[in-house]
Amino acid sequence: MNGDVETINLNTDLRRHLLFGSIGLSIVVLIIFIIVTYRLSSDLGESIESAYIKNHVEKISELVKDIPDLEALSTVEKNKKLKGYFSEHSHYIDKDVVSFQLWLTGEIFKIKNDITFGFNPDIATSIVKKESSDGVIKIKGERYFWVYQYHPKGDGGLLVIRKVYALDQAIEYMYTRLSISAFLTFWLAIWFALLISSLITKKFIKGNVRLNYLANHDTLTQLPNRSYLHEMVNQYLKPIQTTKNITNQDVNKACILLIDLNKFKDVNDTMGHQVGDVLLKSIAIRLSRLVDENTHVFRYGGDEFVIWQENSVEATAIIQAEKIIKKFRQPVLINGFQFEMSASIGIACYPQNGVTFNELFKHADIAMYHAKRLRLGYQSYEKSLDLRSGLRVNLGGQLNHALAQEQFVLHFQPKVRLTDGKIFGVEALVRWQHPVEGLLAPDMFINIIEQSDIVHEFTRYIFKQAIAQCKRWMQQNIRLSVAVNISPYNLMDPELTSFIQKQLDFYQVPAALIEVELTESATMVGIETTKKVFNELKGVGVKLSIDDFGTGMSSLAYIKQLHVDYIKVDRSFITNIVTDIKDEAIIMSILLLCQKLNREVIIEGVETKEQKEKLISLGCKLAQGFYFSKPVPAEVITAQLTSAD
Ligand code: C2E
Ligand code: CA
Ligand code: CA
Repeated sequence: MNGDVETINLNTDLRRHLLFGSIGLSIVVLIIFIIVTYRLSSDLGESIESAYIKNHVEKISELVKDIPDLEALSTVEKNKKLKGYFSEHSHYIDKDVVSFQLWLTGEIFKIKNDITFGFNPDIATSIVKKESSDGVIKIKGERYFWVYQYHPKGDGGLLVIRKVYALDQAIEYMYTRLSISAFLTFWLAIWFALLISSLITKKFIKGNVRLNYLANHDTLTQLPNRSYLHEMVNQYLKPIQTTKNITNQDVNKACILLIDLNKFKDVNDTMGHQVGDVLLKSIAIRLSRLVDENTHVFRYGGDEFVIWQENSVEATAIIQAEKIIKKFRQPVLINGFQFEMSASIGIACYPQNGVTFNELFKHADIAMYHAKRLRLGYQSYEKSLDLRSGLRVNLGGQLNHALAQEQFVLHFQPKVRLTDGKIFGVEALVRWQHPVEGLLAPDMFINIIEQSDIVHEFTRYIFKQAIAQCKRWMQQNIRLSVAVNISPYNLMDPELTSFIQKQLDFYQVPAALIEVELTESATMVGIETTKKVFNELKGVGVKLSIDDFGTGMSSLAYIKQLHVDYIKVDRSFITNIVTDIKDEAIIMSILLLCQKLNREVIIEGVETKEQKEKLISLGCKLAQGFYFSKPVPAEVITAQLTSAD
């Protein structure tokens, strides 16, 4: 998707550069070649020609020896006699000899003189110094050879000037050969350039395709990535927006589904990134099976996936979300561990929830977060969700201050015995007494704390408050066990156990009155770490609980590896317990297993009398829920317990 334009430009530019480059190079080579050849052949021609002329002059010089006696004659007669003498040997003085002059006994005889030429210093010097010499002279733009030969007879000499043919011959000689080689060189250069350019272009295209792919796909899962999503959504929305063609039909509508894996961070942190990666890949494979002409799957980043559904409305998106949630339930087996993943899905639809990618994505994110917080599985965006999401963002920066100011307070929810309705313990549930926002429930801020570096300090603070409250009750003659929730990240706190021990010593509270609750997902992913920390805590004497049992990624078999006292069954199994026989069967099997393993079962989320009675009929003994009491401040519990006495 990205970078197509650059690819095309690159190709044509490259071809042009290569073609012109090779032609330019071949022209340069050809020019050098021509100059060298020209110089070589003309030099060669000249030297052959000069040897030839010198040879002739030598011969003429021989003739001079036999010149008949001229002494008694007049100059005119001498001239005539000499011309006659030399014409007998005319083959030495051929038509190309343009000048032949002879010096004899102080007189000059111009035997042949077809050309007039001016003073030449070289020739003059040779004559004056009586030295044989030769050279080239230019007359009217043409080149001529001259040879002067001193002759002892008559203390004279002879000068022969002859036309030079070497250059003409060189050019004639080179002409055809040079044109053939020039043609061949150009031909080869063009083919070479085309061949190389097509090879390079092929490589570039291959590279570009790969780069394009890399830019638009996630390397781990091979799914299209967020930039691809961005572009696809924009491409889809652009033409609809420009034509303003928003009809009541399903065409031209679309939905974005933002899928976020639940507790994936725990898997990564406790099992390592390699296991996390394998898990992500297997999820990507499951999701990509949903792809059709209208459904596109992307990995948005981390544990977030996005489904972009074209020509779809909210109802279609909800069907898709339900399908995905079902698909995720099928367990994945990695390194012998069985993972049952779950996801939270936020849905935002065009045009009612946004008309740009950013709007749609932001709203899907808000909806997703709501689904995660309330464990709803999926949630469609509604305007009322905005308020809470804005607040969530603001809270992050205030955590340190809130902790220092002791703004976190504990409320307590009773745990009751079903048989007689008596409170046998309480669960400490944190609230944030926010100076502006009022009392905030933990799902507004626990996630932010878990991802911040105050997670250990926060939990220690909660333990201190819980143990202090336990002590206050003891002082009022109320012996009540207090359960504290820990975050999976607290398993990495090396000081946690010793801190709890110190607080117990300080407040003089028996360890058996304190209970530690850890969610099931955390215990199962890092079984070795969990085992170690649980054993340390056991050593201190505190009680241990597995929280939210049934929602994590574990199987019942793991429970036996951890020596916990309580299993707290998640409220999602209770909601429909009166009507749904499947949930009933699950509760039955958990009860059976825990009985065998000698663990006590606490049922969470009991809201109605019917639920309570059903649970009693199934053999449940311990429960917790709004039916008995909502989480309340410590004083309310105190009042309840003292009035009951
Ligand atoms: P949890 O440990 O599962 O706690 C039980 C939650 O279920 C509480 O929500 C409680 O108010 C709610 N609940 C109890 N009975 C019913 C019922 O009958 N129906 C319904 N619908 N809900 C019921 P709360 O207080 O909002 O706490 C939410 C979660 O926040 C807790 O779930 C726990 O995971 C976490 N949390 C609370 N306090 C702490 C804490 O001090 N530290 C840590 N790490 N997590 C905490
Ligand atoms: Ca709990
Ligand atoms: Ca719970």
